[in-house]
Amino acid sequence: MQDLTPTESLATGLTCIECGATYPLAYRLECDRCRGLLELHYDLDTLRRRGREAFQGPGLWRYTAVLPIARPEHRVTLGEGQTPLLECPGLAKFLGVKRLLIKFDGTNPTGTVKDRSSATAIAAALQFGFQAASVVSTGNAASSIAAYAARAGLRSLIFVYERASAPKMLHIGATATDLIIYKGVYDDLIGHWDRLAEEQLFFDCGASRNAYKQEGKKTLAYEIWEQNGFRVPDVVVAPVAVGEIFIAMARGFRELTRLGWIEKTPLMVAAQATRSNPVSRAFRDGGPLTPIKIGYTVAEGLATGDPGKKGEWVLRLLRQEGGLAADAEEEEILEAQKVLAKTEGIWAGPTGAAQLAVLGRLLAKKQVDPAQTICVIVSETGLKTEAEVPTRQGAAFDYNSLRALVLGRLAP
Ligand SMILES: *Cc1c(COP(=O)(O)O)cnc(C)c1O
Ligand SMILES: [Zn+2]
Repeated sequence: MQDLTPTESLATGLTCIECGATYPLAYRLECDRCRGLLELHYDLDTLRRRGREAFQGPGLWRYTAVLPIARPEHRVTLGEGQTPLLECPGLAKFLGVKRLLIKFDGTNPTGTVKDRSSATAIAAALQFGFQAASVVSTGNAASSIAAYAARAGLRSLIFVYERASAPKMLHIGATATDLIIYKGVYDDLIGHWDRLAEEQLFFDCGASRNAYKQEGKKTLAYEIWEQNGFRVPDVVVAPVAVGEIFIAMARGFRELTRLGWIEKTPLMVAAQATRSNPVSRAFRDGGPLTPIKIGYTVAEGLATGDPGKKGEWVLRLLRQEGGLAADAEEEEILEAQKVLAKTEGIWAGPTGAAQLAVLGRLLAKKQVDPAQTICVIVSETGLKTEAEVPTRQGAAFDYNSLRALVLGRLAP
């Protein structure tokens, strides 16, 4: 019998990514000295001694050792994590690559990767004694934070984009205690909201600064490593809006290297929508990150024109560690969504499929080697997307007409 009790958290403190100042494990959004972003640190020596057996039990909290939540009663869960890592030979053939893996995060409880960070965000809200949580979102973070706050019995002030899809609105309406719809895009509201977060009126479940929230997304790296037989792929294509997924995954792979459990980290590719591409644009032009005014993109979860300090952090990682960044146009994203469904039966939303469209571009430009093992993060289900459905005109059948139709369809 396996012991299913999660192990203890080995988190030791927070460190400023700019000046290196260290802080104890308290609720703190930025460095006192330089206002830099903070990142969590762990006692990796102890983890190395304990070995892989330190990871026990199901789901996201399997990786408790490398997550910042000390007490089991704070580890809220809806069954997130341990999403499938799928071998995709049909899609690999279509793209002309040797081995393609899809990490399908659409099977999370609210259908997106956001559940990883919502689990650690709401757990941290409990850990630090908050009664209310809040987030500004284009839809996915909103429905995820609302669900996890409900699960934990917290008040949730959920600010959502007025163009969020009907399924998302319905979902948020059902789970949030307070749903507030805002005009304009994410970038218009986030500055004001960040100031309220500083006043600690609520627990910050936003993507700009909270290290505890971001940390949940790190489990993607650990899962891919475990599910791929304790090896990492050569290339990982990850979406970037604010950059939490990218930064957290890069950190996860770096921790695995420091633990001596992998030899080298994968090549990380930052994928964006062309209509919302500040990181990929700065990477291409070689300059600093410049915020851009954005309009609508079908990849709603990627609609961030001003990713702030996290965007700069992504850019720094790309440049220091030799990653790649690219973006894809609306039609390419919608085409990738269809191809994924037809070749592998995976129904992803446009934000989930954007990474595949970006991979297609990089392969066409020969920037990624097709002989390598490539893993694409498909970050959401298609079931929350609003779209025109094919005609609803039904047909009536009797036995003979039904049989004739079936035989006709199956004829070679
Ligand atoms: C939010 C979101 C992203 C982008 O995540 P960041 O961590 O902000 O870069 C990607 N995919 C989906 C489905 C999302 O909801
Ligand atoms: Zn600092």
